[in-house]
Amino acid sequence: MSIKNSIIKLKAEIPEFVSLVAVSKTKPNEAIMEAYEIGHRIFGENKVQDLSAKFESLPKDIEWHFIGHLQRNKVKFIAPFVSLIHAVDSLRLLKKINDEAKKNNRVIKCLLQMHIAEEDTKFGLNLSALKEILNNAEFKELKNISIVGLMGMASYSNDDLQVKKEFEFLKSCFEDVKINYFNKSDDFKEISMGMSGDYKIAIEAGSTMIRLGSIIFGARNY
Ligand SMILES: *Cc1c(COP(=O)(O)O)cnc(C)c1O
Repeated sequence: MSIKNSIIKLKAEIPEFVSLVAVSKTKPNEAIMEAYEIGHRIFGENKVQDLSAKFESLPKDIEWHFIGHLQRNKVKFIAPFVSLIHAVDSLRLLKKINDEAKKNNRVIKCLLQMHIAEEDTKFGLNLSALKEILNNAEFKELKNISIVGLMGMASYSNDDLQVKKEFEFLKSCFEDVKINYFNKSDDFKEISMGMSGDYKIAIEAGSTMIRLGSIIFGARNY
């Protein structure tokens, strides 16, 4: 199926409150423009260098999401324009993002990444480490970042029940954190979960943001 048709089909299928991040990593500008031409504006990249190059050469009304593991020394390259950073998993990184956002006179939206999968190769916080960040006095001083929700990646598995359990766990953590830390804030509302292979399960479990790559753009060009 073409990129255009895949996006049209997905948008017809997913509920209105779920946003679609088109994960364009490793794909050329032409592929992104195909999606852009039918009105899609939210794209995700996981390498700072690629994201910066694409930002430079593509239309400026694109909303760029950074979805990969972000190194602190590279935050400065994306701070001027990035619209959401999905995978923040330390206070040190948050402080760096805050500093760079301040230099650019912006507030940068971030999601805290939780470790929900069985494999221990993936990044992310457990619930108590996440709460430690939120309770930290230094965190409360950060005025140039806004925590808008949580993000997680399920196990890479054919066991749908296991995947469902992991997404439901992330949803329950979201509810817990919302009630205990963001009760007065309307900004904390996103649960970024679901990829090409498991987005339907993620939506059933309460996802508000799915990150889809290969189902839109085809297999990746490494
Ligand atoms: C690559 C990637 C995706 C998209 O993966 P697909 O399986 O191709 O949909 C989603 N989220 C993250 C964090 C990724 O790195």
